[in-house]
Amino acid sequence: MALAIFWLAGLSQSAAQSETATPSVSETIQQNPNRTDAIAKSDADATATAIALIEPKEHHLLRRPIQLDEDLVHWPDRTYPYGSTQWGTRPVHLGVEFVNPRDTPVYASESGKVVFAGSDSETVLGPQADYYGNVVVIVHDLLSLDGQPVFTLYGHLERINVSTGQAVEDGALLGAIGSTGVAIGAHLHYEVRVESPFDYRKTRNPELWLQYYVNNGMVAGFIHDEYGEAIAEKRLILRSDALNREAYTYGSELVNRDPVWGENFTVGDLPAGEYEIVVLKESGALAYRENIQVEAYTTTFVDIEISE
Ligand SMILES: [Zn+2]
Repeated sequence: MALAIFWLAGLSQSAAQSETATPSVSETIQQNPNRTDAIAKSDADATATAIALIEPKEHHLLRRPIQLDEDLVHWPDRTYPYGSTQWGTRPVHLGVEFVNPRDTPVYASESGKVVFAGSDSETVLGPQADYYGNVVVIVHDLLSLDGQPVFTLYGHLERINVSTGQAVEDGALLGAIGSTGVAIGAHLHYEVRVESPFDYRKTRNPELWLQYYVNNGMVAGFIHDEYGEAIAEKRLILRSDALNREAYTYGSELVNRDPVWGENFTVGDLPAGEYEIVVLKESGALAYRENIQVEAYTTTFVDIEISE
């Protein structure tokens, strides 16, 4: 099939110049400074090797698809994260939402090649046709740590500024936020896929791929029973003096745990510092409590065994 050829070709070709500009970074919110070094194109291979040796599990390489502007939401919506069913009321979420007004520009997370740009009314990219509406999928110039090609998907777009087969630079303008396809209000639906761009069962948690904010880290963990079986839809709370976040473990078999982390929940965008993690039993009684330290530019992993 013709479409598949584009992404295979993209793996062996370096990104060509695109016409669109890289979004500027606001003065108050800066990109993770480590990241600039990590993907410097002049020395990409040597740097990638060094990072792999230092932090073999980390792959926070992708630019946020929304400009780091104070007036915009450039973090994944906390109420419908990857793996959530929103308390059993919605389809399991295989991506994350960036909730912003219609016409907000959307940018490429990394250089690569457009493998699909257009309406998904005929080319099915999700559980059904016309699910993502106007959608762009890019194959990037990088591989996952298990050696698979990495794709990002940008759904529900109002407008598309690129075409299938086009090479794009890191930060290229792809289109604008809308509510096409199956969408409640204007927002960007964003996915990370590996192996196949057209198979919605091949997603990974984007929070494990997005660049850290300055001096932020994140928590990933696995909540399981005494036999090591994952516990679905388990509520947990992560809190510090400054913030209080709720999260839920993944709610469906369609959700993939990262092969290097094996997580069934993540809590991203946490300023470095001390946090308390709490898991409650169905009855509301305390099931687990621990103090954990979140380091900047680091994912802290927590293994939690619960017996009901
Ligand atoms: Zn979504």
